[in-house]
Amino acid sequence: MDPYLRVDDLRVSFTATDGVVRAVDGVSLSVARGRTLAVVGESGSGKSAAALAVLGLHDPRRSTVTGRITVGGRPLVGRPETEVRRLRGRDMAVVFQDPLSALHPYQRVGRQIAEAYRVHHPRAGRAETRRRVVEMLDRVGIAQPERRFDQYPHEFSGGMRQRAMIAMALVNEPALLVADEPTSALDVTVQAQILELLADLQAESGTAILLITHDLGVVAQIADEVLVMYAGRAVEQGAVEQVLGRPRHPYTWGLLGGVPSLHGDADADLTPVPGHPPSLVDVPPGCPFHPRCGHAARVGERCRTERPEPRPEAAGHRSACHLSDEERARHHAEHAVRTGPIR
Ligand code: SF4
Repeated sequence: MDPYLRVDDLRVSFTATDGVVRAVDGVSLSVARGRTLAVVGESGSGKSAAALAVLGLHDPRRSTVTGRITVGGRPLVGRPETEVRRLRGRDMAVVFQDPLSALHPYQRVGRQIAEAYRVHHPRAGRAETRRRVVEMLDRVGIAQPERRFDQYPHEFSGGMRQRAMIAMALVNEPALLVADEPTSALDVTVQAQILELLADLQAESGTAILLITHDLGVVAQIADEVLVMYAGRAVEQGAVEQVLGRPRHPYTWGLLGGVPSLHGDADADLTPVPGHPPSLVDVPPGCPFHPRCGHAARVGERCRTERPEPRPEAAGHRSACHLSDEERARHHAEHAVRTGPIR
């Protein structure tokens, strides 16, 4: 399947008060129509910076974006802002984490979605636009969509606001949806409903979804492929069954150690990754994970001096680590890394 979104060797940097932030450092990924790629990592791993670059939402005066991004075969990097804006909304759209700050508090929800529709359908009349918005509100599961059209964001619950944001993102039927932590601000029940909604809408229209999340439970529920990011780099990527079922990178082991499993021991302690992610102004040399990695001592000097390049593990599965295959197979066997759904 040809990817709808293709990113090759993406690098994003910008200047902050304490130096140059290398937010994304050579990331490549692709997403085909009807598929979901989850980009996972802690805060500061560069996953949101990568998503903003895909959307062409970086401030060109402050940041530098290099590499190749193609959306539906059209290159994005270096394209004039007016053309990127035309693609945004029509060919690709975004759902952010916090719908309350994304929606204008003083404008009726229906009018805000209508505005997004009319940007790309300037000839659409009032009646047609309203019909389309009501249809979208209904499609994302908002009851009484006619009445809800005229309500303000504060009259919607958190889950309804996120549904409205999804309606706004999909009103022009984009082929690519970038969802940046779309369920982080929601309770678990509403979160499950929103993920189900995204999956249903994807099944109907074949949208490619680039999902940014720190939550491996969300990944297990909705993703087809996973890319794990650390310090702006891709450290592991592959099919969801490969990365969650047979992870090969110590950082992925660490992330999985911090979430409960349906198949694990219910009384077992959760062990989050020790320490904190590095500053992207001053990334450690060698493998950037080495100051936090419990396996670095087995490899020795190499972890501190030599950057590990991604290497193939199995078809479509890659990871960037100096540990030998035997060491990693032993870890997998000893720790019975989970192979089932995450609770
Ligand atoms: Fe740990 Fe070394 Fe592998 Fe990095 S390369 S994850 S420090 S073992």
